[in-house]
Amino acid sequence: MKCPVCKTVDLEQAGYTFRCNRCDGAWVKAEVVIPLLEERASTIVELDWKPNTEAHVRACPECGTAMETVKLGTVALDRHEPHGVWFDARELAALLKQAKAFRADPPEHATLMEKLHKLLG
Ligand SMILES: [Zn+2]
Ligand SMILES: [Zn+2]
Repeated sequence: MKCPVCKTVDLEQAGYTFRCNRCDGAWVKAEVVIPLLEERASTIVELDWKPNTEAHVRACPECGTAMETVKLGTVALDRHEPHGVWFDARELAALLKQAKAFRADPPEHATLMEKLHKLLG
């Protein structure tokens, strides 16, 4: 996979992420984003992806499709939903710092489960 910013630079696997040595950006595969944040927050998280309107268009490193610009908390990201999320340098660290802000609210979840159980009889 090539870096979507530098284009000619190969991404190198580093733990859960694929990094670009030149711009220090990181590609995180779709199935890894939530476990990565859950590990950091030590709890279950729910991600509230918001649309963003950045002028740039970057290609998904896996399939070349133009990625959507999105926001998670205060962090601006590029995302191709089926494949993963691109973090510019420092964005991944910034998001991991906010991980706890995404924790799913346990009381609300419990109430929902209660309602569901009643509904299902
Ligand atoms: Zn790069
Ligand atoms: Zn893709």
